[in-house]
This record gives sequence, C-alpha cells and structure tokens, in this order.
Amino acid sequence: MPANFSWIRPEPWGIHVVPADCWIDPAREVPHALVTHGHADHARGGHGQTVATPATLAIMELRYNTREGAVPVEYGETIRLPGGVDATYLPAGHVLGSAQILLEHAGERVIVTGDYKRRHDPTCPPFQVTPCDIFITEATFGLPVFTHPPIEGEMAKLLQRLADQPDRCVLVGAYALGKAQRVIAELRRAGHDRPVFLHGALERMCRLYEDWGIDLGELRLVSDAKKDEMRGAVVMAPPSALNDRWSRRLPDPVTSMASGWMMVRQRARQRGVELPLIISDHADWPELIRTIQEVNPQESWITHGREEALLRWCELHQRKARALALVGYDEDEDD
Ligand SMILES: [Zn+2]
Ligand SMILES: [Zn+2]
Repeated sequence: MPANFSWIRPEPWGIHVVPADCWIDPAREVPHALVTHGHADHARGGHGQTVATPATLAIMELRYNTREGAVPVEYGETIRLPGGVDATYLPAGHVLGSAQILLEHAGERVIVTGDYKRRHDPTCPPFQVTPCDIFITEATFGLPVFTHPPIEGEMAKLLQRLADQPDRCVLVGAYALGKAQRVIAELRRAGHDRPVFLHGALERMCRLYEDWGIDLGELRLVSDAKKDEMRGAVVMAPPSALNDRWSRRLPDPVTSMASGWMMVRQRARQRGVELPLIISDHADWPELIRTIQEVNPQESWITHGREEALLRWCELHQRKARALALVGYDEDEDD
C-alpha cells in the first residue's frame, strides 16, 4: 500500500515529517527539530529537542547557547523517530557538521539536502550521492550564469596580491561559520605558512574547528598585533567589518571578500571590494544539475534560493519537479 509521500509535508516555516511530528530546519521553535547544519537560516535555538551531527550541535551551543535536548547523530547513523520514520544523516560537503537527512517511511525515501556543494573542502567530508524517491534540493545559485571557478585559482590570486604588495595586508571578508575556516585551510594547502590574523568575531568558531581536528596553522588576533607585523599578511574578518572603523588599525588593507556572490560585479562594488574571490559553499548551476542526474530521484523539490530556472531545467529534461516556498532564508549569512 503506497503512502504516496503524504507523510512529508512542506510548510512555509519548514518541512514537516508528519508521523514523527518533527520539523527539518524549522524557522520557529518546535518540540522536535532535525537540523541539517549550523547556519542561522537553518539552525535556531529554543527547540525542545534538536537532532543533529555532534559538530553541528557544538556549533549551535557556541552560537545560541543551546545544550538541552541535544540528540547527536553521526554520519551514516540511523535513528528511529516516532511513527516509524528512520532518519539517516549523510555528509553534505557544505560546512563542518553539515548533513543531508535521509528519511525512510513505508518503503519511501526522501532526502532533504540542507545546503550542499560538490567541491573539495578540507573542513568537511564530501557530499554523498544517495538514491531516493524525493530529493529536496537547495538552489541558492540556481541560475546557469552561476559557475564557480576552481578554488585554487582564487587562492593564487590572493597569494599573488600579497607577493606584489608586501607593504600592505589583504583583508578578506568571510562569513564566520564555514567560509573563514575554509579559506584559511585552503591557504595552508597552497603552502602559505605565515600567521593569519583574525578579527575577534571569528576567533571562537576557528577554535571550534581546531577542536574538531581541522588544522588552521598559526592564528593570531588583530587586537594583539602591531600594524607592521600585519604587512604582507592575510587578515580575516566578517564581511560587516570590511568598511568600518576597525579596519583603520590595519596596514593599508587591500579589501577582499570570499563569496559566491562575488561573481556579481555590483555586489563586489557595493562592498568596496578591490579583490573579489569567488568562493562558494553552495553548489553552482552545473553541480545542481549533476547532483539531480546522479541522485536520479522520481521527483525533485526545489527550495532555498532561485527555484525557477532549475524547475524549468527539470521540465525540459522530463524530470518531475516542484518549487517550495520556505520562509526565513537568508542568503547573506550563508553563501
Ligand atoms: Zn548553510
Ligand atoms: Zn542555507
């Protein structure tokens, strides 16, 4: 007797797993939440119970002081929810701790990706392609114009600028969870072994990554450094600090930003970015297409960004698809 997926219901504030009365990444406080990863548009404090990977729970504790009701699930581990629903957390390749959630009920399989990418990231295990009936995919960069260049080229640009202007520093704006640590880890992979200087707002998350085994090399705080020590160095800060008074303590900074949105020239200009680095923690258009082809679901449900073009692509390729309208999506904290 097919259940026809009536047990999984998209609502504006989250995806409802009906027999378990659980919500995935709910935009409001609920008794039972399944959380894909720690970004603010997915993870919120105040749930009665929060099921997530141990790293995501640690990130949530750091950011929202949530500890009570935390239920850890390792990658590959399956937990039984009420109402006969099994939930398995699988790597999403987005940030430390990020997971896709595979839900199984009455012989039907649904995957909620949360955010994901297919590129190499030294800070988290790669996205795992897993067969399912319904694939609920994000579409942050769901337009054919969005194709992100290889990260190696972007890091080379950054290192070249340091070499060309050794009396200046390069100030890189990057979001505090994920992007900042990935950029530092990629700098290390490219052989950059000088200290990296941090704005205070990035310190605790970088330390958390180190606690989880991600080697970020020597990190120092800008507040503990003399101006001359930062010449020829990389300084990391949250994007909000790029143009504020704080940056006056730096030696003639080259303003840079690491974001998928740096493909859009106007966004770089708005922030006064001199050295845009196109580095995204989301799937670009070719990755979205490839992922739908590889997962090969009966149906794709598209959410979290630019749904229309991907919907159209599915139609053109005889794939069933629908767009979901979820609220509370914040593309600016999460890129
Ligand atoms: Zn995210
Ligand atoms: Zn997101």
